[in-house]
Amino acid sequence: MAWDFSTEPEFQEKLDWMEVFLKEEILPLEAIAEELTIEQWQQATDPLKEEVKKRDLWACHLDSELGGQGYGQVKLALMHEILGRSPIAPPIFGNSAPDSGNAELLAIGGDAEQKRKWLDPLLAGELRSAFSMTEPEVAGSDPTLIRTQAVLDGDEYVINGHKWYTSNGSVADFLIVMAVTNPDVHPYQGCSMLVVPTDIEGVEIVRDVPNMHHPYKTPFARQPGGHAEIRYNDVRVPKENIIGNPGDGFVLAQKRLGPGRIHHAMRWIGQARRAFDMMCERSLSRFSHGSLLSDKQMIQDFIATTKMEIEATKMLCMYAAWHMDQYGASASRVEIAMIKVYGTKMLFNAIDRSIQVHGALGYTTDLPLEEMYRMARASRLVDGADEVHKVTIARKTLKGYEPVEGWPTEHIPTRRQTAQSKFAHLLETTTANM
Ligand SMILES: Cc1cc2nc3c(=O)[nH]c(=O)nc-3n(C[C@H](O)[C@H](O)[C@H](O)COP(=O)(O)OP(=O)(O)OC[C@H]3O[C@@H](n4cnc5c(N)ncnc54)[C@H](O)[C@@H]3O)c2cc1C
Repeated sequence: MAWDFSTEPEFQEKLDWMEVFLKEEILPLEAIAEELTIEQWQQATDPLKEEVKKRDLWACHLDSELGGQGYGQVKLALMHEILGRSPIAPPIFGNSAPDSGNAELLAIGGDAEQKRKWLDPLLAGELRSAFSMTEPEVAGSDPTLIRTQAVLDGDEYVINGHKWYTSNGSVADFLIVMAVTNPDVHPYQGCSMLVVPTDIEGVEIVRDVPNMHHPYKTPFARQPGGHAEIRYNDVRVPKENIIGNPGDGFVLAQKRLGPGRIHHAMRWIGQARRAFDMMCERSLSRFSHGSLLSDKQMIQDFIATTKMEIEATKMLCMYAAWHMDQYGASASRVEIAMIKVYGTKMLFNAIDRSIQVHGALGYTTDLPLEEMYRMARASRLVDGADEVHKVTIARKTLKGYEPVEGWPTEHIPTRRQTAQSKFAHLLETTTANM
């Protein structure tokens, strides 16, 4: 079995095309994206999306049996590294969060009618979705604390609860809501996911919560990328809107978050490379104290360390992607948790050093670095706080170990004593020859 760090030539061609497309079409559009209305944005991106579709690169995150391209996580990871360079690239490729994860949920757990009604238009880019799980009153890190309830009443579920940080919730056509459907069993068996259209009675979009990404927008900005606070007040949905079986919520959540975390981490690599490229360019261009910044050993340390961290994260990510392709999401929890934690740190360091090398310019909004920096901060919380992932890594890793009575296994006097009896015949010969 070979260790191969290259991809198939046909897929490499697609990646090469993506690189050029990003440089020539997406990055120029990014510079004015904030100024466009939704209609102008559609006008600008519709032809780009068509190009992407023609090359079989649209919404690639699903397996072939689920209606996608079936590229697998390794190839998807390579794609996301390129897409990560620009925040506007994923929607042009039909795989931006949270739509991509929600499509996976519906593809895995949805029935034929749900797929027709929600998944197909989602993949076609005709509908937008959001994932509504975190609640302000209880720790999102411990989803067993979820309070939102969905109670069966005849043929309908009646949902009551309070959520926030439902990304894209204020512009979504439907929400996937995590709620307790059976309070009498452990939450791992008692929570379910339900599809809730946003325009039905009782769905109250309270506000887009102002945050480090959109600090100064009005609370009712209703913007893509906003993080909505939502109240569910006696919201009634048909019981057919439950995804999978009642009680499947956590199993589905695990399936949804696994691949998404690999894609996130690869996009962080793309972001980090962009910050890194800027750092290298600046260090070769800025002159101070008799030489270019690139000649200063401290700046060379920044460059070398950042490069090593980026490549190390990529190796970890590609391994996690390969592991998932081989063994599935639940068997890859440690690998996925490792890239989540390691990737966020790498991203933060890369952007931070790039800002430093740019000096005051790096701190301005004339460069994308300050926005990248604010976004990078969110990555330590999104999809689970780093600390919680570290707990997973440590707990699962410790399962491979046993406690010992008395001295540690590596205790040298004990090992020597054991070795002396095991190799007594050798030692006897040595003594006899002396
Ligand atoms: C930009 C952004 C987008 C988001 N999008 C969505 C979305 O679309 N849908 C959605 O449902 N949610 C979303 N979230 C919410 C996110 O999933 C939660 O913020 C996350 O799960 C943490 O929950 P919490 O904020 O309630 O923090 P808490 O659970 O209150 O945790 C606070 C801190 O406590 C510490 N901590 C918690 N547990 C442990 C532990 N076991 N060991 C050690 N330390 C611990 C950690 O340092 C953690 O950061 C988003 C969040 C952000 C920032």
